[in-house]
Amino acid sequence: MSLCNYEERRNKLLIEEQYDILLELQKIDIDIDKEEKKKRDLPLVIEGVTKEIQGLKNNLKNKNEDYKNLQMKLKRIELDLTEKSNKIKKHQEDLYGGKISDIKELKQIQKVIANYKKEKANIEEDVLDLMEKMEDLDKSIVYLDEDLKVEEETFKKRKEEMDLTRLVIIKNMDSLYIKRGEILNKITDGRLLKEYERLRKEKDGKAIIKVDGSVCPGCYLDLPSDVIYQLKKNRKMIICPNCSRILIWKD
Ligand SMILES: [Zn+2]
Repeated sequence: MSLCNYEERRNKLLIEEQYDILLELQKIDIDIDKEEKKKRDLPLVIEGVTKEIQGLKNNLKNKNEDYKNLQMKLKRIELDLTEKSNKIKKHQEDLYGGKISDIKELKQIQKVIANYKKEKANIEEDVLDLMEKMEDLDKSIVYLDEDLKVEEETFKKRKEEMDLTRLVIIKNMDSLYIKRGEILNKITDGRLLKEYERLRKEKDGKAIIKVDGSVCPGCYLDLPSDVIYQLKKNRKMIICPNCSRILIWKD
C-alpha cells in the first residue's frame, strides 16, 4: 500500500467518523427541538379552559349586574305602589269619613279612587313580570356558577398535568444537553461543526442527510453525477448544489 493510499484511507475514515458523530448530534438536536416545541405548546393545554372561564365570568358579571338593576327597579316600583295605596287609603277616608256630603264631590272621589286602583293593578302586574324575570335570572346565575366551578376544577387538573409535563420535559432536555456536550467533545472538525450549526438554523432542523440515490432527500432535486461520484468516494464534505445541505452516502 502506497503512502498516498494510506493517507487517503485514513482521511476517509476520519471524515466518515466525523459524519457519524454529526449525525448523532443531529439526532440529539432534533430531539431537543421536539422537547422545546412541546414546552412552547404547553400553555395551549389550558388556553381553551382559560377562555371558557373568562367567558363564564363575564357572563356572570353581566347577569349579576342585570339582577341588581332589576332589584333597584323593583324597589322603585314598590315605592310607587305604596304611594298609590296611601293615596287610595286617604281618598277612602275622605269618602267614608262623613265629612263630605256633596254627592258630586263623592262621586268625583270614587272616580279618583277607581283610577288609582287601576294604576295600582297595572303596577302590580309590572311587579309580577319583574319578579319572574329576576327568578329566571337567578336560575341562570346558579347554573353559570355551577359551570364555572366545573371549569375551574378542569383548569386546576390541566394545570397540574401541565406542570408535571413541564418537569418531565426539563428533565429530558437536561439529559439531552449532557449527551450533546459529550458528542461535541468528539467533534474535531470545527469547520464542519460550524457549517452544521449554520445549516441547521437555516434548514429548520436537518443539516446533514444520507443519500441513497440520485435525488437529494432534503430538496428532492436531482443531484449532478459528479456529486454522486464524490459522495460514493466520500472523501470530502459534499454539499447539495441546490439546498446546501451536507450530504453523505448511505452505506
Ligand atoms: Zn438538496
